[in-house]
Amino acid sequence: MKKMNELGVPVPDHKAYVIRNYKDVREDQRERALIETEYNMFSFPADLLTLDYLSDSGSTSMSDLQWAALLHGDESYGRNKGYYVLLDAFRDVFERGDKPEKLVNLILSGEDNVNKLMNEVYLTSSEGGFVNGGVHQLSRPNTFIVPQGRVSEYLLFSTLAEVLHEINPNRKYYIPNNGHFDTTGANIRAVHIEPINVFDKSVVLEPFPYKEMDLRNPFKGNMDIKQLEEIINQKGPDSIPLIYITITNNSIAGQPVSMANIRAAKEIATKYGIPYFFDACRFAENAYFIQKFEEEFKNVSIREIIKEMFSYVDGFTISLKKDGLGNMGGALFLRDNGVFVKKYSINGKNIGIRIKERQIVTIGNDSYGGLSGRDIMALAVGLQEVVKLSYLKSRIGLTQYFAKRLAENNIPVILPAGGHAVYIDMDKFFIGTAMKTKNFGGVGFTIELLKHYGIRACELGPFAFEWDQRSEEQRKSILNLVRFAIPRNAYSRSDIDYTVAAISELFKNKEKIPKVRIARGAELSLRHFQTGLKPIYPKS
Ligand SMILES: *Cc1c(COP(=O)(O)O)cnc(C)c1O
Repeated sequence: MKKMNELGVPVPDHKAYVIRNYKDVREDQRERALIETEYNMFSFPADLLTLDYLSDSGSTSMSDLQWAALLHGDESYGRNKGYYVLLDAFRDVFERGDKPEKLVNLILSGEDNVNKLMNEVYLTSSEGGFVNGGVHQLSRPNTFIVPQGRVSEYLLFSTLAEVLHEINPNRKYYIPNNGHFDTTGANIRAVHIEPINVFDKSVVLEPFPYKEMDLRNPFKGNMDIKQLEEIINQKGPDSIPLIYITITNNSIAGQPVSMANIRAAKEIATKYGIPYFFDACRFAENAYFIQKFEEEFKNVSIREIIKEMFSYVDGFTISLKKDGLGNMGGALFLRDNGVFVKKYSINGKNIGIRIKERQIVTIGNDSYGGLSGRDIMALAVGLQEVVKLSYLKSRIGLTQYFAKRLAENNIPVILPAGGHAVYIDMDKFFIGTAMKTKNFGGVGFTIELLKHYGIRACELGPFAFEWDQRSEEQRKSILNLVRFAIPRNAYSRSDIDYTVAAISELFKNKEKIPKVRIARGAELSLRHFQTGLKPIYPKS
């Protein structure tokens, strides 16, 4: 008899105790809402949808333990109790490997031994990692809690630009990334630094047999190390303030990055004395791919893999709305006395102090960082849950199932699937029609999918990445994709089956999909969040 994990279908990992029923919305009602929201996916009222793949960001269904933790939320202005256990949960996950201390349990259990709380939670001190504690966090701040990932990007890059200006007001700077996320690129551009994508497009678009998805993985999210070194030599190391790797690579079809690639980029960073950072938005999902597909890590725990990944970097930005950690949150970390801190603490001022000044004036005091005490407690619990193998297996299993079903229906999905989303290659989708890049066919596809079937997805292609506003050179790194990001713990295989049936129907009728014109706001920054659109239907 086969074992439970040998049946060829995933072992269930959770049950739903609370559900939300959908409304019966008619196609003509959705069409009216589309017209009145200028066909912009981000503006469409979510309550009128059947399935929503716009983003996996903050759309997680939290666990019962997280909901229970909300009641322990402490809304004090200074040093709420959740702050201490959140900081320690960061140490657990990013630094302690298989030896987490799970301090949050002391709060949840109502521990009332005051000396114990003082000695183990409130008055402890630590230094030398990403999370200084006690007086060290005050004199050398290195952990910044914020409402979401882009705020950590803003804090990092606006402060870094200020320091770079003091070092040399005339130099032009570049930040290479294996795939800048849209807000990341925009935050870097906003301070007049140029973001550069360093990946191999031909590797990403290379066909992959879907039947082998469970057997091997080419880690298409990797940074192109050769290209990275060429850029450093061409621009000069002093023009590269940091090397940035996104795990998993959301903009590049959500593909994972291998530990080998993380190490290789570290070597380059060390060779040229350049600080090395992660955009760590889906670190746990990335760790799962490393365990499953890199031989060396077959028998290494997810927690130990995460510890090794983070041992290489000098800091990271992270959205805590990803990886199923919670519904709201983000953070910026600097390695205490790491390359970044040493290099950019100039003119007698620690860079952490500069960042903290900015944090306080814009987002809030350091111990809540624009979050409620309830959000903070949910995150402290969530951090312990998302590193569990059974959860990750089921999470990524569902994404792979989605990709496999699409492939079986001949839909040109990027394979293998990444962790959080499936991406359809719109250039291939529209083969045989007159659709051109400038017609934003991916957007037309999302409009039709929403109108006919109540399903929302997101174009991440020439429209979102501002193809028409970019140089010929920059256009080369823009892929033409539509993303279906899967909210965590919310959807099941039957939701996926409905979606695949809807996509297949559109694929069969692809010549009826409209071209799209930007009617308002083509030049706006991050325009996909705010422009008005107009579909142009083919004459029939
Ligand atoms: C979501 C995301 C961000 C930004 O985080 P927010 O919480 O949405 O502000 C940055 N980088 C990547 C790779 C992301 O996926």
